[in-house]
Amino acid sequence: MALRLMDTLKVEGRRVLLRLDLNVPLKDGKVGDETRIREAAPTVRALAERGAVVIACSHLGRAKGKPDPALSLAPVAPILARLAGRPVRFVPDTVGEVAKQAVAAAKPGDVLLLENLRFEAGEEKNDPAFCAQLAALADVYVNDAFGTAHRAHASTAGVAKLFKERAAGPLMAREIAALSKVRDNPDRPFVAVVGGAKISGKLETLTSLAKRADTVVLVGGMANTFLLAQGVAVGKSLVEAELVPMAKDILAAATGRGASVVLPTDVVVATGTDAPGRTVSVSGVGPDEMILDIGPETRQRIAGILATARTVFWNGPAGVFEKPAFAAGTLAIAQAMAASPAFTVVGGGESVAAVQQAGVAGKLSHVSTGGGASLEFLAGDMLPGVAILEEGA
Ligand code: ADP
Ligand code: MG
Repeated sequence: MALRLMDTLKVEGRRVLLRLDLNVPLKDGKVGDETRIREAAPTVRALAERGAVVIACSHLGRAKGKPDPALSLAPVAPILARLAGRPVRFVPDTVGEVAKQAVAAAKPGDVLLLENLRFEAGEEKNDPAFCAQLAALADVYVNDAFGTAHRAHASTAGVAKLFKERAAGPLMAREIAALSKVRDNPDRPFVAVVGGAKISGKLETLTSLAKRADTVVLVGGMANTFLLAQGVAVGKSLVEAELVPMAKDILAAATGRGASVVLPTDVVVATGTDAPGRTVSVSGVGPDEMILDIGPETRQRIAGILATARTVFWNGPAGVFEKPAFAAGTLAIAQAMAASPAFTVVGGGESVAAVQQAGVAGKLSHVSTGGGASLEFLAGDMLPGVAILEEGA
């Protein structure tokens, strides 16, 4: 199924409700990282240059359905204006009189930014009345916030249905194109590298990848549970003992269809994240030690696998990469992704940070900033915010 794209909408002289992901980190009223604003800016500029009245909206943080001045989108407006190269008028309201008047006064090419949608209880509840009020502000709808597309909230799902003309913005379209290729149509061999702290929370994605990939490489804390499932003593490592049966099922599902599963053969262990590490074979983890990174032999093996892959999806660091002593495995995977001729996609908060830390983001085919939405998409789930933007939906 194809997505309707923003470029196909007639927007000149029309009011466009534009759902963005401006969920940036705020500290003492200052924006900590502008990445999401920088990514959203071209979409805002494109619509404004085409003569739309742009009504931008987003959530920010965990406002609990009521106004919280510490989570206002106000500080985002001047940054969006600078990055989009257009004036942006911040509207300290979402769907009330103030918002209606601001929209009524706006001219083609103007950009408004509404207040944090989660100041309204109706947003997360996908409340029909709030959806109707939001929809009443505009003529057409564009969603460019892939990161919240897995949530059926008012601004991502409920409101979309109320517009005859609705479409995906360019960021959303890029995410869907890259992740669809990985999920539905990967060039083979397709290698999935999955790590991070835990299996729980990624179970469906892991199960899905075990059914699709030719090779599943398991690293990071989650690999510990798989090692445990194979009878390896993992000392004080982070494990989810209750998920051992699940781990066995995932291993069986992959190997049963002829896919290979790669687990670490050597690891870096320590008695704590601030203690010095030592490299041992997986059979040599002491009772007081924890596995905090993959070892050099495993890194090299993974690099070899990625070098001959044609599609690679990576989610989850290979170790506690926040500590330089346990970052080598994660950085090695980032480097191997960059060196691989494959179609390479990385997703996940910490994994994307690691790729940026390694300085190789520009060398990957796609860096998915969707976090949970990317993983749910790969699990095969229909994301409510995406389904509604498909042709014929
Ligand atoms: P992502 O955000 O990319 O999806 P996760 O949130 O699943 O990744 O996991 C990231 C976290 O996993 C990192 O903070 C890292 O410190 C932790 N981690 C990785 N390997 C281990 C390990 N062996 N033991 C404990 N924590 C680990
Ligand atoms: Mg994370």
